[in-house]
Formats: sequence, C-alpha cells, structure tokens
Amino acid sequence: MTMASTMTSPAPSAVLFKAACPDCRGRFELASQELRLAIGRTHRTTFYSFTCPGCGMAVRRPAGERIIELLTGGGVRTMRLHIG
Ligand SMILES: [Zn+2]
Repeated sequence: MTMASTMTSPAPSAVLFKAACPDCRGRFELASQELRLAIGRTHRTTFYSFTCPGCGMAVRRPAGERIIELLTGGGVRTMRLHIG
C-alpha cells in the first residue's frame, strides 16, 4: 500500500533508451518504465520489450549482455524466466 511513497522525488536524471520499431520503422526514446527486460537461460529467451509509441505494436528485441547492463542499470523492470 505504500509502494508509491518513495516515488515522489524526481529521478536525478531521466534515463532514455533509444529503440526502433521494426514494424513502422519509427525510432523512439523510451523511459525505463516503458521497457521490460526478460532474462532467460539462453540468449533466445533473453529480450527486452516495449509497446511502440508510434503504431502500438508490442515489440520484442533480443538483448545482449551490454543491453542487459544498460537496461538494468537504468532501472528497467526485469523478469527472470525459468524457461529455455
Ligand atoms: Zn511501430
């Protein structure tokens, strides 16, 4: 019930991630809360996803080690999958 109580102060620096949509080919800058990261056991089940602000498509892109570091360091919500 008090989960939002620490969210009142602004983040020191808003982290934006550049992402491209393969569907409408738009390029966007997304905040960390607009991205999700899923980490599976193999690179095939490790990806980040977002909803394209341009066309509304759910986009999934493979995430390499460097992207994982960037996203987790930027506060992107991470799911650990137990499949794959
Ligand atoms: Zn799109």
